[in-house]
Amino acid sequence: PTQTQIGLMSHEELRSEHERQAAKYAQLKAEKLALDLTRGKPAPEQLDLSLALLSLPGDGDYRDGSGTDCRNYGGLTGLPELRAIFGELLNIPVANLIAGNNASLEIMHDAIVFSLLHGNPDSPRPWSQEPVVKFLCPAPGYDRHFAITESFGIEMIAIPMRDDGPDMAKVAELVAADPAIKGMWVVPTYSNPTGAVYSEDVARELASMPAAAPDFRVFWDNAYAVHPLVTECAPALDILGLAAAAGNPNRPLVFASTSKITFAGAGVSFFGGSDANLAWYQQHLGKKSIGPDKINQLRHLRFFKDADGVRAHMDKHREILAPKFALVLQILEDRLGASKIASWTEPKGGYFISLDVVDGTAKRVIALAKDAGIALTAAGSAFPYKQDPEDRNIRLAPSFPSIDELATAMDGVATCVLLAAAEQALTHS
Ligand code: PMP
Repeated sequence: PTQTQIGLMSHEELRSEHERQAAKYAQLKAEKLALDLTRGKPAPEQLDLSLALLSLPGDGDYRDGSGTDCRNYGGLTGLPELRAIFGELLNIPVANLIAGNNASLEIMHDAIVFSLLHGNPDSPRPWSQEPVVKFLCPAPGYDRHFAITESFGIEMIAIPMRDDGPDMAKVAELVAADPAIKGMWVVPTYSNPTGAVYSEDVARELASMPAAAPDFRVFWDNAYAVHPLVTECAPALDILGLAAAAGNPNRPLVFASTSKITFAGAGVSFFGGSDANLAWYQQHLGKKSIGPDKINQLRHLRFFKDADGVRAHMDKHREILAPKFALVLQILEDRLGASKIASWTEPKGGYFISLDVVDGTAKRVIALAKDAGIALTAAGSAFPYKQDPEDRNIRLAPSFPSIDELATAMDGVATCVLLAAAEQALTHS
């Protein structure tokens, strides 16, 4: 049947629409699927692109270009040649970027713990001695960011996301007025989960807006800096330069990693910041570590050779990922386009599509999908405290399943979206 806008249906039409979708859903359940669209994990064929890492750096090859024996302790800042490659990609001078262990999330967690226990270079006192500490959280955003701040009792304030970054009027107003706001989570490129790319204007305003707290920090998590789904990659914005020019050199803390470039969980992380921030971080890091895994860094250096090596490698990821994203968008359009009961982002990079269903039905859609063997990210995950105020957002992660699995799963999701919409419309009609 041709789809019509559910909102325009009579009670009778709604009853038959509900019956139609309930029948489709019964068929779906009978298929006894076991599919997972929850997390943005690289697919096995993406991991295969980096198989050569497993035999690098190779027998007897353990010195970097400056002669450092990577088998031994030391070198807290990481291999200079690898920092230079990622400095070029992240638009950060090599002196302001250090290479670490396998996870950037760990550095973000450290930055918050160090700030709570010791304060940062601009803090009048440790954050933990403040009566309240608050973070701005553009939402929908990355659930693990919000989990870190929540776990330390940092009060999270949701800020609506737009296509070019968060609602900056709101951000600027709050940050200027409230000295308890010490930080803000930002995923500037192909953001998780909407795919938004922060504009240069937004970056400039983040770097320059007045802040009531002298030790306010922007946690600039550029996890998807080199992860386009199209041939042209969004440029990495010079956030450190913008902040320095505005007289706020210590405001940005930059994070990145090769988790979705080489092996997720076995790559190399990066931390960028002003001289003062790097000195501060290393002072505390030096107490918990004698140095990072330099053999893994050397392996990555030998594998990529230069920034173009990383770009060429990302082209191969794109060839695997782009058809999966195109398929999801096609199914959403085919199944939900005409009925106007859902909207979704069309990301030019990153790992996610953000789907908004009829207000008040996201939980129901996710429960229906679960009962049909399709795992979706838990409702509200992309919001602080897991509270989606409209109960409408669902994060879709197309990377891991095969094309066939993805087609089956997404068709099933569309059925659940339509059934939940019909159920709700029927109860309100
Ligand atoms: N930041 C964002 C925005 C992410 O989506 C992810 C998940 N890949 C991470 C950080 C985690 O990065 P890492 O593996 O370096 O800890």
